[in-house]
Amino acid sequence: MSLANEEPARKRQKVDYKDTITVLAGQQKTAYTVHKTVFCTRSPFFQTATNGNSWLEAKKQTVSLPETPEEIFEAYIHWAYTSEIDLSALGKATAAYKHPDWVIITRLWILADMLIDEQLCNSLTDLMLIKFEEDYGRPSPATLCAIWEHTSAESQLRKLCVDIMSCCSWTTIEAQAAKMPHEIFVEFTRRYFEHEQHIKGRRGLLRHAKCRYHIHRDSEECGS
Ligand SMILES: [Zn+2]
Repeated sequence: MSLANEEPARKRQKVDYKDTITVLAGQQKTAYTVHKTVFCTRSPFFQTATNGNSWLEAKKQTVSLPETPEEIFEAYIHWAYTSEIDLSALGKATAAYKHPDWVIITRLWILADMLIDEQLCNSLTDLMLIKFEEDYGRPSPATLCAIWEHTSAESQLRKLCVDIMSCCSWTTIEAQAAKMPHEIFVEFTRRYFEHEQHIKGRRGLLRHAKCRYHIHRDSEECGS
């Protein structure tokens, strides 16, 4: 199953099918050959890595992503070519749509953030908000720890997680406390009490404020 990207398609750029780059993903350095135009249109990271003079990668037309597991990079390839998030590839068979694998979705978000592919970050954010509203799906303590490890304090993904958790019951938050660093628990607690009056138990409100968790240049918002 796939989720079509709702944002307007980017201006199509003619693909040079002969112009390819090699991406080495994961610790095994698995090599993927992809079309440079497609990846550079999506990602300023790839533009810099393959067009500059200073990067070694630019000379070799090879980009290494050692921290990115193969399945995550393959999900990115699917997105780059189709503008769709392939949920069946991301999770475990058809159950993936009902209970998205937060580990994989958040890892893909972290990759998209590193590649400066804001459109993918925002589409994944929408997916997480929908699933939270529908069935209270939320990241596990282990996934939260991984997010805090790989993102900055200003990360929109952290902000989303803090707000998702602060909509949960106090019992839920307390139950997670023992399994994650104190600093994360403190953030959840503070937001929980800020939220208490206006948002607790009203998880649907988060989705209606989705631009709060999106990455937008300047002050533009979706649909504006
Ligand atoms: Zn937005």
